[in-house]
Amino acid sequence: LFPKAGQQIDDLLREADTAMYRAKSAGRNRIAFFELTMQHEVEERLALEQELKEALAGEQLRLDVQSQVDAQGREVAGELLLRWLHPTRGLLPPMRFIPLAEETGLILPLGEWVIEQACHTLARMRRQGLTQSLAVNVSARQFRSEDFVPRVQAILQRTGAPAQQLVFEVTESLFIQDWDNSLRRIIELVKMGIRFSIDDFGTGYSSLSYLQRLPLFELKIDRGFVQDTPQNINNKAIVQSILSMAQHLGLEVVAEGVETQAQADFLRASHCHRLQGYLYSQPQPLQDWLAHIGLND
Ligand code: C2E
Ligand code: MG
Ligand code: MG
Repeated sequence: LFPKAGQQIDDLLREADTAMYRAKSAGRNRIAFFELTMQHEVEERLALEQELKEALAGEQLRLDVQSQVDAQGREVAGELLLRWLHPTRGLLPPMRFIPLAEETGLILPLGEWVIEQACHTLARMRRQGLTQSLAVNVSARQFRSEDFVPRVQAILQRTGAPAQQLVFEVTESLFIQDWDNSLRRIIELVKMGIRFSIDDFGTGYSSLSYLQRLPLFELKIDRGFVQDTPQNINNKAIVQSILSMAQHLGLEVVAEGVETQAQADFLRASHCHRLQGYLYSQPQPLQDWLAHIGLND
């Protein structure tokens, strides 16, 4: 396969490295051959990484909010969803840059910015007597960073935000590794008043035993299970089992990705009283959402 015409030793090593990276990211212990498209991907990643650093410094990041409604359709909470308003690529959804931010460690400043925004907003809301809570997605890498707990504490103090209105959404992956550490941190944060929600519940590979050992507040049923209910009897059974389990464990449940009235009717009939999805509202810019819930400037 080599050397190809005109190829230098450096090219060869770089290609080998790229192929190795691909083999690792495909689950390790594999063989991968270098292909030209891989080189483009690597360059694309590097460019995006550099641009993400600039996005953090400049004001290209934006927060959208999606409402969660209760049984009466009242907005009781909002989930903050990050967007990147890229100068040339347009509006990028989180799936385009969060994984990269996690790999490169940029998720630490990025995640901190989101928590900071949430806390500033909550402090403003409290001054006007608005009691909705705000949920922030916290990635595992961010949660595990050395000084996560003191940093969160500092933000709460600096902003004067009511911690009781702040919810951290984490995924089950947090409990697969480093259990003792995660448990200790969650307990510390819960003591400050923050509540914990398990996002995309049911899609991870963790054991259910963590549910009774953690001071959790809520589960969010993954939208994959909500889809196709009530027609799909398997999804229907999974949703009902989650609801019944949560009820026995004293946990709240939010159903994600509710798109149709039939899904909402089924969920309500199954005693799920917190719903989030396009049926109620699309994610909207933070300022618009605040105006909508009645915050005055
Ligand atoms: P998630 O936390 O599970 O957020 C729900 C996602 O479902 C959002 O996608 C939302 O726009 C979308 N969604 C809401 N209702 C519906 C619906 O009725 N139908 C369908 N098909 N989709 C619906 P989005 O905003 O693209 O976010 C994707 C993921 O990116 C989030 O999933 C979350 O894991 C991650 N993410 C977003 N913001 C942040 C952040 O600030 N930090 C971290 N670490 N992750 C974030
Ligand atoms: Mg979420
Ligand atoms: Mg989710």
